[in-house]
Amino acid sequence: MEALREPRMSREEEEGMKCRLCEREAVSGLCSYHEKAKEQVKNAYPRWVKAYGGMEWKDYLDSVKRNVQTGQWAKEIAEFLGSDNG
Ligand SMILES: [Zn+2]
Repeated sequence: MEALREPRMSREEEEGMKCRLCEREAVSGLCSYHEKAKEQVKNAYPRWVKAYGGMEWKDYLDSVKRNVQTGQWAKEIAEFLGSDNG
């Protein structure tokens, strides 16, 4: 006997979806601000790896979070990526 699975990935059908990190309207799980910050954080990673001669993703996120120059959006994203969405 198998339990019925509810379709979870139908993003287009979910209206009024909220960002997972704030109360803004989300485009694909995240609002445009956090989505943009996520891209920036991800795009910067290879540069850090190169600059430090190797860096773990988790260590990178940790550095992003502790960097005083990191904006609030990026910090929240680093926290988010480090928790469940590597
Ligand atoms: Zn957001």
